[in-house]
Amino acid sequence: SLKGKTALVTGSTSGIGLGIAQVLAAQGANIVINGFGDHESPSQQILQAGATHNIRTAFHGADLSKPAEIEDLIAFGGKEFGHIDILVNNAGIQHTSPIDSFPVDRWDAIIAINLNSVFHTTRLALPAMRKANWGRIINIASVHGLVGSADKSAYVAAKHGVVGFTKVAALETATTGITVNAICPGWVLTPLVQKQIDALAQKNGVSNEEATKELLQAKEPSLKFTTPEELGALAAFFCSPAGDNIRGVAWNMDGGWVAQ
Ligand code: NAD
Repeated sequence: SLKGKTALVTGSTSGIGLGIAQVLAAQGANIVINGFGDHESPSQQILQAGATHNIRTAFHGADLSKPAEIEDLIAFGGKEFGHIDILVNNAGIQHTSPIDSFPVDRWDAIIAINLNSVFHTTRLALPAMRKANWGRIINIASVHGLVGSADKSAYVAAKHGVVGFTKVAALETATTGITVNAICPGWVLTPLVQKQIDALAQKNGVSNEEATKELLQAKEPSLKFTTPEELGALAAFFCSPAGDNIRGVAWNMDGGWVAQ
């Protein structure tokens, strides 16, 4: 059980982050919620998931492209709950374009949100974890932290960076009760991926259903999406005592994507 522990899940107002927050809440963790858009309904869903444990949630809308706002976010978590025990670095964005025409501002935004924010949250959350001699840092990387795909230069660069950073953070905490690992999902049907399905449907003049099938067939041998709940279960496993000596892994959950 994670009763008494506090988890910060960045980007937990939607998709994978929301799913992971619900699973950790169901195990009794209090949740610091972060992300853009409506936070009322995600907060209700997370509270409901943790209802049997009477968990608490608190929301902070830090923009993770801004280091000063990340400092506020970590300080807020400390003020509300004492300190953050579990840090799930999940917030991320995507933009697809060939390198020659990749918009420079999209490159900068992806590196800032998908990579730099992981450095900032980690450096700021580590001191309290060291004091407690317990902590879990779980970085939601991607199969694109392990292999490439055309038109995703910034995303693939950022996610490979996250996997590299995960290994170094795991080494620097190797003799402590803090573990640092990455999870590398294949396709998960969230708003981030629906946008790519919409683009494919438009490009090929096919239905949403056809485009979804094409998207899976191109990369994911299982022809099935991984779900936020499944990713939450893996995160919860890393948080359990069985995860005490799992350090610096990049664990893919991808329907066979990187086995090819
Ligand atoms: P999503 O768009 O559903 O959710 C992204 C979350 O991040 C939202 O809560 C959003 O508000 C938040 N966010 C975006 N920019 C932010 C910023 N500047 N500051 C704070 N919060 C911000 O996307 P998702 O598919 O759930 O993706 C979550 C993570 O999983 C991302 O890191 C993504 O790269 C990764 N991932 C997704 C897939 C997939 O197939 N969906 C696969 C592999 C990895």
